[in-house]
Amino acid sequence: MLIVFVGVVAIVVMNMKSGAGQRDWSTVAPHAPPPPRRQGSLRTKLASLARVGPKGSDGSVQPLDPEFSIVLFEDFVYSLFARVHEARGGDRLDTLGGWLSDNAIASLRKMGTPHAVKAVVVGAVTYESVAGVGANSPRVRVTLGFEANYTEATPLEQSYYVSEMWLLERDASVKSRPPDDVRAFKCPHCGAPLDAVQGHTCSYCGKVVNTGAFDWVVTQVKSRAREQRGPQLTGTTEEQGTELPTLKDPRAQERLNALMHDDPEATPLALRKRLEFIFHEMQTAWAQREWQGMRPFLSDNLFQTQLYWINAYRQAGLRNITENAHITNLTLARVTRDAYFDAVTLRVHASSLDYTVRDRDGQVVGGSRSRERAYSEYWTLIRGRGVQGRPSTRKQCPSCGAPLSINMAGHCTHCQARVTSGEFDWVLSRIEQDEAYQG
Ligand SMILES: [Zn+2]
Ligand SMILES: [Zn+2]
Repeated sequence: MLIVFVGVVAIVVMNMKSGAGQRDWSTVAPHAPPPPRRQGSLRTKLASLARVGPKGSDGSVQPLDPEFSIVLFEDFVYSLFARVHEARGGDRLDTLGGWLSDNAIASLRKMGTPHAVKAVVVGAVTYESVAGVGANSPRVRVTLGFEANYTEATPLEQSYYVSEMWLLERDASVKSRPPDDVRAFKCPHCGAPLDAVQGHTCSYCGKVVNTGAFDWVVTQVKSRAREQRGPQLTGTTEEQGTELPTLKDPRAQERLNALMHDDPEATPLALRKRLEFIFHEMQTAWAQREWQGMRPFLSDNLFQTQLYWINAYRQAGLRNITENAHITNLTLARVTRDAYFDAVTLRVHASSLDYTVRDRDGQVVGGSRSRERAYSEYWTLIRGRGVQGRPSTRKQCPSCGAPLSINMAGHCTHCQARVTSGEFDWVLSRIEQDEAYQG
């Protein structure tokens, strides 16, 4: 199922880039060239904020932002996107003025200020450019493309599928704050609670905080598409790149050894079993349309991506079905470690029946009911840095051991532990297609 999904994202993105004025997603051709192979390199470039920097007096590199974590950055942008659109509801954009320029606020107001904006779901975030990550650069600039879905109440409710470009900036010398502060949107200068920031100024410390001197600020927002109809979901997309050799980071094994040194239970076999367990739980949840069943094993962002497509299928009156999904091979591709997260990427070769059925008459409108489809994807598991222990293959809360039951916010309903952020066990945080993955 996932191949179809991301194939569709790529097609939508490509189409919207190439066709000025061509805004009807339903006209998308089912076969499109693969997306440019730049995602990985732009992401890696941004992640290197934690490593590059000017040389100190002793000649050693002084990293610009040693605690920078790409996982946290992405958590932040997903969360900011949702909060910003929710704040268009009732014209409350000022409440996020600490992270928005006047220019960005003006563009967002032009999209409308309905009574409420809710159920904001980000389907994909793509890096379009990353500039200014260098030893002597004063300013870092990141252009992101968002594909998302939300509902506006005016008060009549209407759902929209949107494509937007956001430019985020900050001084290269900014130091990242701890995860809890980032997630709570505290004043980026003094750490006062979010409601202290009114307009662009913090009422506690008196600083104008949306300058990029303390945190990221959105300086441009551009609406590229806003449609009531979702992306094209019928037709069959040919699988691409399955035969390509695995892009293996030459340092992967060495870093895995270092990880095992810190946690002897993080063995290749244990990680492999955890991934297989998640793979099968996802297939089961998907087949039964009980997407909540995937919740405990996916990061918040990846769960949103799944939700985006589940919504799109449901609204189109379609049902995507996978049967007999099985992994045929797993290969270690990459291991990265930053201040807050360890990440292990495995290439997954798998095969399944994969087809799409129209609800009203049961007709197959995409894929094949009889011919299995072989595919491969790069799956990235993350876990909090410093967390230890055997990766679980049981449906138990990794914190309290109760039978697994997770609410929408990712917390165990028994002990309230937040299990989807990798604070207890490995969770799946990214699924990338062969043609999009660049290590
Ligand atoms: Zn402040
Ligand atoms: Zn629990």
